[in-house]
Amino acid sequence: MARTTPPRPYDLLALFPELAAYGKPAVRLHPRRGEPTADESSIGGPLLWPVDEPWPVCEFDHEDNMDEPYAYTLAWRAYLEDRNRREKEGALDWDVERRRAEELEAQFTAEDDGAAPPLIPVAQLYYREVPHLPWPDRYDLLQVLWCPRDHPEAETPYNPAFQLRWRRAETIEKVLDQVPVPLICNGEYVPNRCVLHPETITEYPLTADLPVELAEAVRTWADRIDNSTAYNWDTASAPGWKTSGYGGAWGIIDPYPILCECGERQLPLFTAASGEFDGGTGSWRPVEEAGTEWEFADPVEVVIGRGYTLQLYYCPASEDHPNRTEMF
Ligand SMILES: [Zn+2]
Ligand SMILES: [Zn+2]
Repeated sequence: MARTTPPRPYDLLALFPELAAYGKPAVRLHPRRGEPTADESSIGGPLLWPVDEPWPVCEFDHEDNMDEPYAYTLAWRAYLEDRNRREKEGALDWDVERRRAEELEAQFTAEDDGAAPPLIPVAQLYYREVPHLPWPDRYDLLQVLWCPRDHPEAETPYNPAFQLRWRRAETIEKVLDQVPVPLICNGEYVPNRCVLHPETITEYPLTADLPVELAEAVRTWADRIDNSTAYNWDTASAPGWKTSGYGGAWGIIDPYPILCECGERQLPLFTAASGEFDGGTGSWRPVEEAGTEWEFADPVEVVIGRGYTLQLYYCPASEDHPNRTEMF
């Protein structure tokens, strides 16, 4: 089933025709819990990985804000899913549930063994399902992995660390099915297994990234209608997991151009979000899910910082140039 963003509450192009020049496609991925195969696009799902290619490991140093055995994270998610199902069927005995949760936790112990840990799948994006990805003449599959731990030395410190693989699916003959997993992780960096319902929308730069005069006109209008979120949050930029589009709202740090070491400006490629919408961005809930309240507000259950987004950038000059990241 498709997922469709409702019409935006304001017709920006009628208000500011000059914005048309800045419209850019973004693809809302609309991840929903499911069981994707390696032949489908997914978040947290199995990757179409060549059996003869080494699985990537993380070479960064780690300093974990929160860590737990990876196997426990998966078992805890499975327990929660089962508990939620049982809760819908009838009242639970919370004393029993508490005991079960404690028993589950006691079953898993793991410590960092010092070896470079294997990464975990974050996203698999087939171009046929997720349009507007770069170099479609050469690639038809983009795989995004990360190390689900905190990296004090990384560009965006104390966040998961990304790695990418650009591929042509037809070149992969035999697929790796026994994938190595890390010993420990920050459970907040482990995505739930989700299928995708990609939808292309149009995004506009946030006011901090617009030309000064246009930004001023937008702010004046927002003041006049007494809605400070009318542009950035209600119309210009979609919340949630997405590809392409524009950068996030500068707020944690001052705006700066995201430049590649070659001098090119890097462009947004992939955005990992702490949820699909929140109390302020509920207008983005798809029309097909009207009335579902919070049910689909956070299918992936990844948390970036204090509920931020982590955006991965790419250099349009070459896929071999290091990808930059920024947290918004
Ligand atoms: Zn790492
Ligand atoms: Zn570059």
